[in-house]
Amino acid sequence: MAKLYFRYGAMNSGKSTAMLQAAYNYEERGQQVLLAKPQVDTKGDREIVSRLGVSRPVDFVLSPDADAYQEFSKERARVKAETGLEVSCLLVDEAQFLSETQVDDLLRIAVLDEVPVLAYGIRTDFQTVAFPGSRRLLEVSHAIEELKTICRCGRKAVFNARKVGDRFIFDGDQVAIDGVDVTYESLCGACYLEESGGLLGSGRRRVLVEPPEVAYSSAPDADFA
Ligand SMILES: [Zn+2]
Repeated sequence: MAKLYFRYGAMNSGKSTAMLQAAYNYEERGQQVLLAKPQVDTKGDREIVSRLGVSRPVDFVLSPDADAYQEFSKERARVKAETGLEVSCLLVDEAQFLSETQVDDLLRIAVLDEVPVLAYGIRTDFQTVAFPGSRRLLEVSHAIEELKTICRCGRKAVFNARKVGDRFIFDGDQVAIDGVDVTYESLCGACYLEESGGLLGSGRRRVLVEPPEVAYSSAPDADFA
C-alpha cells in the first residue's frame, strides 16, 4: 500500500530542496511525478524555489476550496494521455497551507489510488501553534519525518520566530499580509522563550511563565550532532 508522508521542518530546513531532489530521484528512474502547492495569496505563484537556487514550476496549484482529489485525478489522466505512464508520486510543497479536507484527500490518493504522497511543510506558525494543514497531516500521515536545521546557538531549531527588521514580533495573523515586510528566524525552544519573554502561543493560548533559566549544556542537541 502506498503511504502519505509528512516531512516537516522549521523555516530554512531545506524542505523545497529535499522535495526537488525527491522528484529528480523518481524521474532519473524514468518515472512520472506530479508537483503541487496550495495557493497562499493572490499572486498565483507556481514556482517551487529552493534556497540553493534550483527552481521548478508545479503541475497544479490548489486554491483554498479546490477538490485536491479531483485535481490530482485530472492531472494524473493528463500524464497518462501524454506519456502512457502512470504517476509514481505526488509531491506537495508548503503543505501547511492545505485545508484539512485537502489533507484528507492526500490520504485518499495514497490509500485508494496507491500513489505515494510526499507532503513537505512547516509544523507550527510564528506563535508555535500548528497550521491547520500540518495538524491534520500529523493526525493522518503514515510516516512523519523531521528535516532538521540549526538555531543560532547550535541546538536544533524547532520554532519559526517572526521579525520585522531586527525586532521579533509575537502578535499578528498566522500568515503575514502581502506587502508587510516580515522575515523568519528558526530558533530552538530556549532561544524562542528568551526572545518572547516566556510567551508561547501568543493571542490564542497565552501562557506566561518565568523567562527560562538557560541552563542547558552548551553542546548541540544530541539528536542533531
Ligand atoms: Zn537556540
